[in-house]
Amino acid sequence: MKRHIFFLVVMLLFTAFSFAQSVQDEIIPRSGTRIVMEEALKDPEKKQILDQLEIFTQEFISNIDNHRMGGPYIIPLVVHVIHDYEDENISYEQVDYALSRMNEDFQGLNDDLSEVVDSFTSVIGFPNFEFRLATKDPDGNCTYGVNRVASPWAVNSETQRTMSIANWDDKKYINIYIVRSFEESMSSAAAYAVKPGSGGDNGDYIFFRYDYFGDWNFNNDSPGNNQYRRHVPTHEMGHFMNLDHPWVGNNDAAQEDNCALDDGVEDTPETIGTIGECNLEQATCDGSLDNVQNFMEYSNCICMFTQGQADRMLAAANSLAGNRWYLWQEENLIATGTDDESFTNDPYADCAPIPDFKVGTELGCSGTSISFENFTYNYRDTEITYSWSFDGATPSESNSENPVVQYQEPGTYSVILTACKDDNCNTLVKENAVTILSQMDVTLAEGLSQGFESATFPDMVSEVWW
Ligand SMILES: [Zn+2]
Repeated sequence: MKRHIFFLVVMLLFTAFSFAQSVQDEIIPRSGTRIVMEEALKDPEKKQILDQLEIFTQEFISNIDNHRMGGPYIIPLVVHVIHDYEDENISYEQVDYALSRMNEDFQGLNDDLSEVVDSFTSVIGFPNFEFRLATKDPDGNCTYGVNRVASPWAVNSETQRTMSIANWDDKKYINIYIVRSFEESMSSAAAYAVKPGSGGDNGDYIFFRYDYFGDWNFNNDSPGNNQYRRHVPTHEMGHFMNLDHPWVGNNDAAQEDNCALDDGVEDTPETIGTIGECNLEQATCDGSLDNVQNFMEYSNCICMFTQGQADRMLAAANSLAGNRWYLWQEENLIATGTDDESFTNDPYADCAPIPDFKVGTELGCSGTSISFENFTYNYRDTEITYSWSFDGATPSESNSENPVVQYQEPGTYSVILTACKDDNCNTLVKENAVTILSQMDVTLAEGLSQGFESATFPDMVSEVWW
């Protein structure tokens, strides 16, 4: 019966998965920002910050000729990869690629900018932001700017719970989170972000489903070419820098009454918004042509900001209301290792690898071989040495990358892994990493699983279900 339950669960999962796959290509998942912002605006404190920022923004824009500086504004960020050892544990290459695409967009260097229709070429704008992965963490340690945290919360991620396990000071870093999937209320979203000061106790954030952090091609682990996905990070960063959708934040796109709403940007025409398609002749309000190609749209041909949007983002970057001003100050660039001097002079020389591993089988019988899969990170393109210590196992030590050992005696054992790049080392101790059962335990456990013959399914989250 155990097997039957297993197959049924697999069948259910498979059906759900294929359904999600087929739907995904037909409907572009939205940005979930309007949902999180709707919630944030119920908080008077957050609303006050946005009101202050709005006053600042109007003042800033009325004097924009004095404010349009050359830039670039260098802005540090960290990518927290919350993963359960699966595809959501995205590669450094994917992170680099997503950020380079986003930086192109914020500097007017994206190659598809040439596709903007004539009616809008005169209003193209960009704020000249350059986002850089931090090379120093909050303790001043050397980092590649990617913080990998293994957690079952990578699946059905809830914002505040996920942030509670990985969070750097949001006055110093933009906190970007990568997860496998979002909780129910955000499940139709590809990504979401908060506007300045709206994040809550753990600060402001941008969340991405791993497969919408740029247009990475997971089939052959290489850069992809998807017009919509490549600009998803840009769209979310637009929200993070205080932009609304052209049809305004708290409504979904393509609803008739959106025309009456205004995004606070002068050169974005009123529109009801677009979902998925790309009709460059679309005029949904008052006969004026929609800016379907705007990065803040949901069309599948987004490729531009307007000058008005760029000015608005510059205003946000220059305001203390919402904290964006702190990010690009020279002393913060030095603290986060993103100033030119640090960033261009081998900033990774002293990085120590951060050990992590996954246990092949956390629960086994006496004599079972247990394999360990290495997930050490914070290094790239360099040799790492490993020292494992296995309490109660044979062998009890190993220098392999992915060792296999045997346990004879029943009990619960800890595993220690030290990873070094030259003399830069870190050690991880996982208590109770492996449990070896006696034959009596196994019989008992089998008895328990027989009880699942009723319609109730075992807890899928439990790590010891089989
Ligand atoms: Zn959005």
